[in-house]
Amino acid sequence: MKIFDVTLTISPESITWPGDAPVSLQRFRKIEEGANANATRMDMAAHTGTHVDAPYHFFMDGKGVDQLSLDILVGLALVVEFDEAVEVIDAQALEKQNIPAGTQRVLFKTRNSQLWAKQVKEFQPGFVGVNVEGANYLVQHGIRLVGIDYLSVSPYKKSRPTHEALLGAEMVIIEGLDLSSVCAGLYQLYCLPTKLKDADGAPARKILSGDD
Ligand SMILES: [Zn+2]
Repeated sequence: MKIFDVTLTISPESITWPGDAPVSLQRFRKIEEGANANATRMDMAAHTGTHVDAPYHFFMDGKGVDQLSLDILVGLALVVEFDEAVEVIDAQALEKQNIPAGTQRVLFKTRNSQLWAKQVKEFQPGFVGVNVEGANYLVQHGIRLVGIDYLSVSPYKKSRPTHEALLGAEMVIIEGLDLSSVCAGLYQLYCLPTKLKDADGAPARKILSGDD
């Protein structure tokens, strides 16, 4: 059994969503300056790095990240790999994958993962996302958690229809996965977002365990 860390490292160099403040990690107590311990202050958007979206992200009456069910966040997850030629995950692309009936959690590995492997430092607006037809397909097939390997599950500037379809069905969305070192297949997912009260999202460490 091997453990795969599919989480991005958060640092001031992290790629952030256009318009979000950059990450700031400030050590405000320093041993070298006489303090008895080092201590750091964090300042970042809740949607930084590898994170979870809660329904409240798009719905005023939606659940916050602290209310998401651990039953959904932990369990078997299918890593589904799309060909490099796939530019958008639509219903047709999903149909081709023959996702087995009863699958509850899917993590999409696309050409986006190569961006993390290559350590591309600038935001890439041409990333692969799920369009609204793809989102409706996932809802209709009973998927309860969907993850993607870039900073949004929806194509750039098309956030609302995809997010509304997914979050409206109480699906958990994971964004910012680095799946570059993971092959397609079935894994045990552990996704544990920071328990921020009533928040629209939160960074989370995510690991997959499975056969090497
Ligand atoms: Zn998000």
